[in-house]
Amino acid sequence: MKTKINIIGAGISGLSAGCYLQKNGFETQIFEKSSSAGGLCTGWKRNGYTINCSSHWIMGSAKGSSFYKMWSEIIDISSIPFHNHDLKYDLELKTNCDKYGSKIFHFYTNLCKLEEYLIDIAPEDTKQIQTFIKKVRVFQNYDLPPIPQENSFLKSTIEGIKMAKYLPVLKLIREWNKETNFTFAAKLKNPFLRESFELLYDDDEVKMLVFALPLAFYDSKSAGYPIGGSLTLVNKLVEAYKSLGGKINYNSEIKKIVIENNQAKGIILNDETVFNSNITISTADWYYTIFNALEGKYINKTLLSLKKQEKLKTFFSVVMFSLGINKDLSDLPHFFRFPLETEITSPDGTKYKRFEVHIYNYDKTLAPEGKTLISICFYTNNGDFWINHRVKNIEKYKSLKLNFAETVFDILDEKVRIQKADIEMIDIATPATFLRYTNNWQGSTQGWMPGNNFLAKPPVKLTLKGLKNFYYASHWNTPGGGIPVALKIGREVARLICKKNNIKFTAL
Ligand SMILES: Cc1cc2nc3c(=O)[nH]c(=O)nc-3n(C[C@H](O)[C@H](O)[C@H](O)COP(=O)(O)OP(=O)(O)OC[C@H]3O[C@@H](n4cnc5c(N)ncnc54)[C@H](O)[C@@H]3O)c2cc1C
Repeated sequence: MKTKINIIGAGISGLSAGCYLQKNGFETQIFEKSSSAGGLCTGWKRNGYTINCSSHWIMGSAKGSSFYKMWSEIIDISSIPFHNHDLKYDLELKTNCDKYGSKIFHFYTNLCKLEEYLIDIAPEDTKQIQTFIKKVRVFQNYDLPPIPQENSFLKSTIEGIKMAKYLPVLKLIREWNKETNFTFAAKLKNPFLRESFELLYDDDEVKMLVFALPLAFYDSKSAGYPIGGSLTLVNKLVEAYKSLGGKINYNSEIKKIVIENNQAKGIILNDETVFNSNITISTADWYYTIFNALEGKYINKTLLSLKKQEKLKTFFSVVMFSLGINKDLSDLPHFFRFPLETEITSPDGTKYKRFEVHIYNYDKTLAPEGKTLISICFYTNNGDFWINHRVKNIEKYKSLKLNFAETVFDILDEKVRIQKADIEMIDIATPATFLRYTNNWQGSTQGWMPGNNFLAKPPVKLTLKGLKNFYYASHWNTPGGGIPVALKIGREVARLICKKNNIKFTAL
């Protein structure tokens, strides 16, 4: 008889774990609270538009990259059309660029072009620029992340020895995890260049690593955007999981994990239906799993410290405006960021000195012909504000969203020449939306924010001390989160389960 595994959550982590476990002879089924798969990596239809949430860039979109190999183990990634941007952003600055007589800074994704452009603007910063580009290129010399293949002691020891060649990368990760865009900007002499780097992120919690690492992948065209957005990727994973014999139960929210003698025995849904299994994996939110589904019975010092956010903070949540514009906006840059004359304050109290518009003019599938989907994101550390308002007074919550929208429309009109009359679809997702649909704690979009020690041990581990036959695997295992991280953790948990069950892991 096959070992039965219940998986909580049909996000990328759950689907990935499910695919790898099916390949290794386990009988799995996924229980998903929503009516569709994807979790945070999702999209939804409204008035003829497809709203895209997540997947602005996915590592592993080009042949030869490490993540490409990993995606290819479970889906035909080559069948997904990816778009690679020539420009990461266009930034409008307050400072004028003497060289070009313009306030617009172009962040090219091609490293050669970027280096040339930066030096052209600021010859006085040549040394800093060359060092920066050289360091970004270091990431390109390695298979990132290394993919472990074997679970025999000897072979994994050999893999461990091979890892030694990754030391320069680890050194660089450490170095860039101490640097922020502000500390980097402070080293530049040219005022235009300095302001352009200062404008990258508002929050000095964000490290340069978050910017530099993707740049390496953009240049090698292995961090593309899947045409159709998140749904394109998720549909592929669902198809793959089902074709491997997996079953997804939608609208099935887990209330509790059944435990007997410190062994996970199954799950109980909200309607009290019980599903027994030999093994349970939760890929749902960490807080929900530890404190609700497991009733806080297996907490330890680390988990309590995480609850208090002593060492790590949750990744930003977001107020995301998706607007359907009754116009073809092909002539505009796909991502435009500019400083505001007067700072604006979100209803949750966060102040914004800049504004950014994401124009999906490169993905015609998201809007009816001749029209364009745009999105404007306001990142916030105060997700609880929206979450609490929605619970206490939904009418007030709705009016807060609409009032905020009026501020957004005014800026769009003034800066991007999109008038209110051009907006024919409005969708506003807040941290309360992300919590409601996916349970992610405080509406976090990517789990934990990377802390000072990026290479520290996982904050939430794959297993819990004292509880047998239970595993935890989601983007909350790895600070920084993201789609490839979810893919990888699904693979890792499958490997670990194989190892514990004396099965030689196969990814084929
Ligand atoms: C606006 C936005 C933009 C992003 N952009 C990018 C990007 O460009 N690139 C990138 O790599 N990443 C991006 N991310 C992050 C990425 O989407 C996530 O890190 C990743 O999808 C997390 O996957 P996961 O499966 O670990 O978790 P989740 O997506 O949270 O999946 C968990 C699943 O468990 C289900 N669940 C929860 N509780 C229960 C329960 N009690 N019972 C049953 N089911 C339950 C949830 O409904 C969900 O489907 C973005 C995220 C957001 C929100």
